Amino acid sequence: MMQPLLMRLRAQHPDCEIHVLAPAWSTPLLARMPEVTAVIENPFAHGEFNWAGRKALSRRLASADFSHAYVLPNSWKSALVPYLAGIPRRTGYSGETRYVLLNDRRTLDKTALPRLVDRYAALAEPATNTTPEPRLHSTPEQQLAARTALGLPLAVAPVVFCPGAEYGPAKRWPVRHFAALARKVGADRTAVWIVGSAKDQEVGDEIVRLADGAALNLCGRTSLEQAIDLIASARAIVSNDSGLMHVAAALDRPLVALYGSSSPGYTPPLSARATILSLGLECSPCFKRECPLGHLRCLEDLTPERVLAAMQD
Ligand code: SF4
Repeated sequence: MMQPLLMRLRAQHPDCEIHVLAPAWSTPLLARMPEVTAVIENPFAHGEFNWAGRKALSRRLASADFSHAYVLPNSWKSALVPYLAGIPRRTGYSGETRYVLLNDRRTLDKTALPRLVDRYAALAEPATNTTPEPRLHSTPEQQLAARTALGLPLAVAPVVFCPGAEYGPAKRWPVRHFAALARKVGADRTAVWIVGSAKDQEVGDEIVRLADGAALNLCGRTSLEQAIDLIASARAIVSNDSGLMHVAAALDRPLVALYGSSSPGYTPPLSARATILSLGLECSPCFKRECPLGHLRCLEDLTPERVLAAMQD
């Protein structure tokens, strides 16, 4: 979501250094973005204040002599460290009483900028009308290395399923639908690989069980880096609205993106090769983690046949 901002900054200031303060887990992702010079690990858990830790981090940033900070989260806590570090220009959207902490405050026009990616990209000035699409790097050598390390066949072009969605069940296409799709895709011996984190392992196992072994569960077996390289060499990806969906879009692979309680208008996959499937029910998007109506029609009624047709378009 924030890479297009980095692309704009890099285009405007080709010789600048861009350091990204981000959680440790995202380092492999940032390593695949050519705009990023370095990553500074954000040690704070979501919601954690930790005054001593924030002061220590601000001293570290102060010694690096940064000229400009872009603060993307809306919380005042996130604006505190750049302020304490004395970074001269601190840009971000107004909100959560950040009057002193930010000295380049912007007013967000949610109607003009419905997509999160455009909101971030608009922080770079001068703004342009078009937001560049994110792009992650993955070389053939990296793809080969990932498959070799995981003991996967090298000459296969699999269809990759990403059935996880950290946010909650209202963003997860039903397991039995993934399984039915695996059987259809695997009917001509196409390999189906399921990719996700350790938290998706059970879901992956259930898909394999219901699909009578027509898929291989790799959830929890790959690093994020390896997941990127497996997706980069896939013939197609079918994914819930999740982080890996955005990875697949940024790798510019053919992608079918499945939306339930969330909105493709807010966080769409940013790739011309992505097909968005969303039933657009009256109750949608509700942005809930679990279906408040208890039926999950937005995903239950999205049939495997329809997803298969979208893959073949
Ligand atoms: S309320 Fe509607 S959009 Fe929300 S989860 Fe239920 S079916 Fe989906």
